[in-house]
Amino acid sequence: MNAKSHDAFDAALHAIRKLCAEGHVALLAGGCVRDRLLNRKPKDYDVVTDATPTRVKEVFPRARQVGAKFGVMLVRIFGHDIEVATFRSDGPYTDGRHPDAVTFGTDIEDARRRDFTINGLFFDPIDERVIDYVDGRSDLEAGIIRTIGDPHRRFAEDHLRMLRGVRFAARFGFEIEPATAEGIKRLAAHLESISAERVWMELEMILTDPTRARGWSLLLETGLRGHLAPAWPPMRDEDMATHDRLAALPNRAVSARLALAAVVCGRTPDDAGSVCRTLRLSNRLSKAVVWMVRSLPAVHKEGSLELADFKLLMAEESWPDLLELLRGELIGTGTNLDPYERVRDRAAAIPAASVIPPPLVTGDDLCDMGMSPGRRIGEILEAVYRAQLNEHITDHKQAVAMARKLMGS
Ligand code: ATP
Ligand code: MG
Repeated sequence: MNAKSHDAFDAALHAIRKLCAEGHVALLAGGCVRDRLLNRKPKDYDVVTDATPTRVKEVFPRARQVGAKFGVMLVRIFGHDIEVATFRSDGPYTDGRHPDAVTFGTDIEDARRRDFTINGLFFDPIDERVIDYVDGRSDLEAGIIRTIGDPHRRFAEDHLRMLRGVRFAARFGFEIEPATAEGIKRLAAHLESISAERVWMELEMILTDPTRARGWSLLLETGLRGHLAPAWPPMRDEDMATHDRLAALPNRAVSARLALAAVVCGRTPDDAGSVCRTLRLSNRLSKAVVWMVRSLPAVHKEGSLELADFKLLMAEESWPDLLELLRGELIGTGTNLDPYERVRDRAAAIPAASVIPPPLVTGDDLCDMGMSPGRRIGEILEAVYRAQLNEHITDHKQAVAMARKLMGS
């Protein structure tokens, strides 16, 4: 059997059948059960079982341990990695994020340690039966995000759950149940003790999803917005404008750089850079965001851009996102789309081959013409290349003539 003919569900089902054949209980758990009931495609399928990790290893000799502390095993079936976790209950939490220890337990305990009722369901794919110890099904049907157990206690245990709650509410268009929302408001400030990387992982999922504007509203309403990162204080007008820009981005998943640029483009490029740093983004992502923030005013006034500068913008990887950002900014501020259409049409009229063409003269050419290597060569090459991009010169002969003239000056 090969990977191509079996999807991840088949792989999980295979694991479950095998564990059951060995006398164990094995079920699908969490997000995949929720997503199937919502008729959405699960990202992955998680299996839970009463088999201990040692037993899982006996049943699947090539299983590998992940998250050693929590007894989760990774089993590769039909080319899919399936997580097989032993039913457990979580011990005390002291770091605001992870339990200090876990103990293997029952299916009920395992359901109750989960964050939200809609995430606490099990599904037996052999009997095709949902197992619901946490009243998750009714909340799923009613569209409600509710913690399993006392919200204050659950958010105090693991502060990241607050952001997860917002993420699920936005993604599914659900309401956060009042006591759960109140719990988030009371503990929102604790988000600052979570690592910036982990906060960004959640924020990225909220902002790149088509439901990003509702996600942002929920961050504002719950007070989480003010605590996303210590060095990123909220500013009221900016946060409202941000909502409108996010709402105006395309109604599909967008790149992280576009989503984040839409959040920070009301700031100076330097300030946008500080936000990226405080969120501990990769250099590559930070650079792209700062570039978009810096370039937005330029494309906004596209008419004053020389052809060369316009092409240099077009040559950047984030160019398509910059166009979307401009569009979002115009819609978000209720301005007409003329500037966006002008930029789009100007770009469409430039053949791809002339955006970053190979230079008409090179450093070697200039050396052959008797120049010695150095800074001046670089300046001349740049000036000639700009002239080429501006289409003031179009062939090697003209380029050489221009270089000669500059050499003489
Ligand atoms: P997604 O579709 O985004 O993957 P998910 O619900 O599957 O959503 P995961 O992070 O993959 O989320 O976690 C799988 C399951 O593990 C959740 O459905 C939930 O039952 C449980 N879980 C995950 N994170 C937590 C947490 N911080 N606290 C309690 N339970 C959690
Ligand atoms: Mg998941």
